[in-house]
Amino acid sequence: MASAIYPGSFDPITFGHIDIIERAAKMFDHLIVSVTVNRNKTPLFSTEERVNMIKEAVKHIPNVTVDSCDDLLVNYAKECKVGTVVRGLRAVTDFDYELQMAQTNSILSNDEVDTVFLTTDLKYAYLSSTTVREVASYGDDISKFVPEHVAKAIYSKYKK
Ligand code: ADP
Repeated sequence: MASAIYPGSFDPITFGHIDIIERAAKMFDHLIVSVTVNRNKTPLFSTEERVNMIKEAVKHIPNVTVDSCDDLLVNYAKECKVGTVVRGLRAVTDFDYELQMAQTNSILSNDEVDTVFLTTDLKYAYLSSTTVREVASYGDDISKFVPEHVAKAIYSKYKK
């Protein structure tokens, strides 16, 4: 069975991520969306909150499961017995970092973990979690960027 992992911060999940998930789910028998715990960043949402928001956002896709990963991605991939990582590319600005990560994972895993890239749908090319947090922090409308349950969760964070 061909499986893949789609790792990311998803802080929070956006329509851009959901588009990548829907497309990758058609290419693989099983897709694991995994919230990565980045020790150098303080996220807006806890890992558990992010996992739950993603579960709600992808519940219409039967072959997707949602998990979290507090380890090096290659170790996590080995644990899951999965050799393919999916990442999204929006613009040239993503490319350097993504290439470096993909090559690092390839070296660390002795070529057992490979990365495939899906290019963003043009309508989401501008969209990032950072933009969503920024707009929401001013109380502005984010309904074009994230599902309703995610928007509600962000507004309640900024109200506190
Ligand atoms: P990370 O902090 O690991 O980069 P993100 O949650 O920002 O996590 O992104 C996870 C993956 O989704 C990355 O590969 C990123 O390039 C991709 N991605 C983010 N936003 C979009 C979008 N609008 N369209 C396509 N891919 C996207």
